[in-house]
Amino acid sequence: MKKRICILYTGGTIGMVPTDRGYAPKPGALAQYLKAIPDLASPEAPTWELVEMEPLLDSSNITVREWRAIGQAIFDHYDRFDGFVVLHGTDTMAYTASALSFMLENLQKPVIFTGSQIPLCRMRSDGRDNLITSLLIAAQGRAAEVCLYFGGKLLRGNRATKRSADGLRAFSSPNYPPLAMAGVEIRYDQAALARPAQKGPLTLAPFEAAPIGVLKVFPGIQFGLFEPILTEALRGIVLETFGAGNIPDGGGALLPLIQKAGKNGTVLVVCSQCGEGSVHLGAYATSAPLKASGAVSGRDMTTEAAVAKLYYLFSRGHSAAEVKRLMEQDLRGELTGE
Ligand code: ASP
Repeated sequence: MKKRICILYTGGTIGMVPTDRGYAPKPGALAQYLKAIPDLASPEAPTWELVEMEPLLDSSNITVREWRAIGQAIFDHYDRFDGFVVLHGTDTMAYTASALSFMLENLQKPVIFTGSQIPLCRMRSDGRDNLITSLLIAAQGRAAEVCLYFGGKLLRGNRATKRSADGLRAFSSPNYPPLAMAGVEIRYDQAALARPAQKGPLTLAPFEAAPIGVLKVFPGIQFGLFEPILTEALRGIVLETFGAGNIPDGGGALLPLIQKAGKNGTVLVVCSQCGEGSVHLGAYATSAPLKASGAVSGRDMTTEAAVAKLYYLFSRGHSAAEVKRLMEQDLRGELTGE
């Protein structure tokens, strides 16, 4: 019996058309492009159905609302299909894949995000392989989680990050091995596929646009300038620090800010600007103020995963203390525990 796969098109380069303002998505265009790919009708291909989201967006415009709509579409079609391929713009694909990994609780089927750097209407499009291989991976069913396939690699969605603005191998997951490599054969890494157990029927976790922020530390940063935004309204901040979690602590300029965040109950999550490796609060004196203030270590999480996880935990109604505890726990394979 042939597997049935739902292709969900959200927008993004893969189905875009040229306009006088640059590439943009257009309703119906992707369906036409797919008709022109004979392999999609090959006996080797699974049966597939295209569902187009509305409106189609460049992924720079995707928000928590669209994450919810994508989650809802997967939930609504879950019983009719063996797997899902989500076609999405590359710019924020790692954020959406991370968000969906938290939103889809007890997911037992593959949800494969993919897209392309060159639209399908162009001769050299990378979209054909990305789509066809994603369809096969979804039909094989071995990676029953939210993944991202791009340029020959199947990555865990909440470990992926866009690393190239124009390369065809645009994504990597520096802190986690690829789940599979697609060469002549699609080879899965059985050990990498293991992750926290999911049991029970699929449920959709609530996702709200909780007021959170991302602050990237840089040499000479004037922390005082950021003080006005640190109100009680701001519930979480992902702080992108140097190396293993270090911040310029000379003169204690950051201290009042950290203290204010603590007083307001704002959760501070410490991530690293280095793609590879982990945060170790307290390894250097320059991370001591963060450790002392009760900031949370984002360990080896990507910023994308940390942002999505903050939205997820706040939307579930957890207290700040609970959010802090859960941020350091491995919920969907998004971080490496101690
Ligand atoms: N700007 C596009 C998007 O993210 C880029 C792409 O799809 O590659 O929608």
